[in-house]
Amino acid sequence: NKVLVNDQLMERQEAKVDIEDRGYQFGDGIYEVIRIYSGSMFTGKEHIDRLFESAKKIHLELPFSEEILTKKLQELMEVNQLQTGIIYLQVTRGASPRQHHFPDNDVKAVFTAYTKEVPRPEKQMTEGVTAIVADDIRWLRCDIKSLNLLGNLLAKQEAMSKGSYEAVLHRDSTVTEGSSSNIFIIKNDELRTHPATNLILNGITRREILRLCSDIGLSYKEEAFTLDEMYKADEVFMASTTAEVMPLVQVGDTVVGDRTPGKWTKELQKAFLGAIQQQCGE
Ligand code: PMP
Repeated sequence: NKVLVNDQLMERQEAKVDIEDRGYQFGDGIYEVIRIYSGSMFTGKEHIDRLFESAKKIHLELPFSEEILTKKLQELMEVNQLQTGIIYLQVTRGASPRQHHFPDNDVKAVFTAYTKEVPRPEKQMTEGVTAIVADDIRWLRCDIKSLNLLGNLLAKQEAMSKGSYEAVLHRDSTVTEGSSSNIFIIKNDELRTHPATNLILNGITRREILRLCSDIGLSYKEEAFTLDEMYKADEVFMASTTAEVMPLVQVGDTVVGDRTPGKWTKELQKAFLGAIQQQCGE
C-alpha cells in the first residue's frame, strides 16, 4: 500500500517524519478522515472544506489548493485499489527547532495521507452499542479538528476499559458530543443535538443527518440537552464518519427504550445508506 507525503506517492516504509516535526512534538496540526464506499469518497468535498477551515483557525497555510488535494487523494485511493475504507490525512506546521511560537514562513507544512480498509460496522449498527458518560475536560476550541486529542483519548480509553463503544461527554451536565462522534437524542418525535459552537466538532455525518431529517419528516432542534434529558429520551444515537448512525442502547447505567435501536434511528440509518448509494453507487 502506498502513502502520500506532501505531493509524493511512496511505499509506507520509505515515508519519514522529522523528530522535530511540530505535529509530532506539539500536536500542532489538523486532520480529516474521509469514508470510501465502492471506491468513491463520501462527502469528500465537505471534509476537504473543513480541513481548510481548521487550517485557517490555527493560522496554518496549506501548501496546496482544494483541487490539487482532491486529485492527490483520488490518486492514492486508486493506486491502493481501496473499495470500502477510509483515507486519513493530516497536515502539521512542519519541522523546525523546537520552540512554542510558530516558525518562519519558509518552514513548510507537512502533509501525510494513507488509506485503510474499514468495513461498515453492520453488526453494531443493527444491535446498538453502549456508552459511558464522562466529564468533557477538553479545551474550548473543539470546533477545530486538531491533532491534539488527549482529552478525547482519555475518555475513549475509559469507555473501552468498561466494555463500552463510546464516551458521551458533558460539561456541567450539558451533553456536548462523543469522544469521537456527535450525540443525538429523540424525544416525542423530535431530534436534538448540540448546536455547532466552539464546544463540538461540527461533524460531516451530523450535517448529513440533519439534512436527512427533513427528507424523512423528522423535526429537529440544534439545542443542547442535559444528561437527564438524554436518560429520559426515547432514542439516543451517535454519529461519525466511520460509525455512521450508531444506536446507543445504554448510556451510563440507563437503558434506552427497550435496549434495541429506535424507529427513527433505523429510519435515519436507512436514509443514510440511501445517501451513500446515491453518491458512491453500488
Ligand atoms: N466529534 C469528534 C470529537 C470527532 O472526533 C468526530 C469524528 N472525527 C466527530 C465529532 C464526527 O465527525 P464526522 O462526522 O465528521 O466524522
